Amino acid sequence: MSTSAELETGELESSDTRSAESRVEGAMRGFAREIGALSAFRLESCIHCGICAESCHFYIATEDPKYTPIWKVEPFKQAYKRESSAFAPVFRLLGLKAKVTADELAEWQHLLFDSCNMCGRCSLICPMGIDIAALIEQARHAMFEAGLAPKELLEKAAHQQLTGQPEASAEPYRDRLIEIGEEFQVEIPMDRPSVDVMLCVPRTDIEHYPEAVAALARVMHHLGVSCTFRSDGLIAENYGYFSGGRAWQRDISLRLIEQAILCNAKVLLVPECGAAYTALRWEAADLYGKPLPFQVRHVTEFVADALQAGELTLQEAKTGVTTFHDPCQLVRKGGVKDAPRQIMKSLGIELHELRDHGGFTFCCGGGGGVLDIESAAPLRYRTMEIKLREIDDTGAETFLTTCSDCRRTFNDAKEHFGWNKSPKSLLELVAEHLDGTARTR
Ligand code: SF4
Ligand code: SF4
Repeated sequence: MSTSAELETGELESSDTRSAESRVEGAMRGFAREIGALSAFRLESCIHCGICAESCHFYIATEDPKYTPIWKVEPFKQAYKRESSAFAPVFRLLGLKAKVTADELAEWQHLLFDSCNMCGRCSLICPMGIDIAALIEQARHAMFEAGLAPKELLEKAAHQQLTGQPEASAEPYRDRLIEIGEEFQVEIPMDRPSVDVMLCVPRTDIEHYPEAVAALARVMHHLGVSCTFRSDGLIAENYGYFSGGRAWQRDISLRLIEQAILCNAKVLLVPECGAAYTALRWEAADLYGKPLPFQVRHVTEFVADALQAGELTLQEAKTGVTTFHDPCQLVRKGGVKDAPRQIMKSLGIELHELRDHGGFTFCCGGGGGVLDIESAAPLRYRTMEIKLREIDDTGAETFLTTCSDCRRTFNDAKEHFGWNKSPKSLLELVAEHLDGTARTR
């Protein structure tokens, strides 16, 4: 279990060689550039009621006021007031808003990256309708521009932008996918020139859960879907999104968009990965500069549609008392609440909902890239206890989710705490209970 000493922030972490002062200037300039009328309105609307604190698992777990969501953008609020607000000249003339210092930004690197999953629970609860998570995302962009994103996220984003895969040391993912097909005896459709559906895959599944990759291929084959993976646009996660590197986020999204266009896909199917859904479903068109010429669907939506259309039937899954973790990027930002429940119903599952489920779900604790940041681990474990307790309270024997990063976060907690539960992928459960013979479309 972590101690309060472990939760203290460290040095300003950066591989950037610029001086601390020039990085502070860079962060402030970046934020000033990001701020538009909507964000300015959001910053001005806060009535300091503190309700957002009670929504955030980082504050609830620690009761430390510095984890109040709106406080996480405070230096940027100060920069906005000093540089861009209607009263900026007055603030500057009277010295009412001091310049932000490098030491303050070191603290804020911890607040914006280590202690925010960008889960949006605070945005849902704010009585003024302030999208605090969106402000935090903008503040991350500014931190990135100043070279102040955590090195783990920077390195993965840089490598993914250059090569398409985030891990420098990993075996080429295309080769690994083919191996997974051989290992699980399922055909992996690759580089087909013209299909209805383009598939992509979480790096987390390739590296940790190959059975989930096989499940995706098996379900598509069973449904007779004309589909393919594409060597040059394979990976679902977007480390540009996590690190705050907007241009890299665009480049990483463009790889998938271009490949989907090249193979004439009508649907880009997002696998079990919440953050990929946000990056592709809600942000990619903006970065692309025009509407995407295909739909973006999460795999649970696709499977639920097939059930609804009578194209798929499932055998009963004898999972006993079962609970389900809604990945926050899917349910709160994406509204994908009913699809997994329709699938569980079709599997005859006795679902015992978590106390906080659907739109009010707590993040697993690893979202927003937090799972990859080494220095964030002690606080993450402390925060996760809320979620683990909720799962235990259901008395569930089986615990399902639909995001492989959530799955990895829970498995990591299992090891850390000696917890007695392992999350299972809902898609794998579907693949294990397909009814009837495969069809050909
Ligand atoms: S809940 Fe909204 S209005 Fe209240 S302190 Fe938080 S951001 Fe400000
Ligand atoms: S987005 Fe989630 S983790 Fe971040 S401040 Fe809001 S509630 Fe907390």
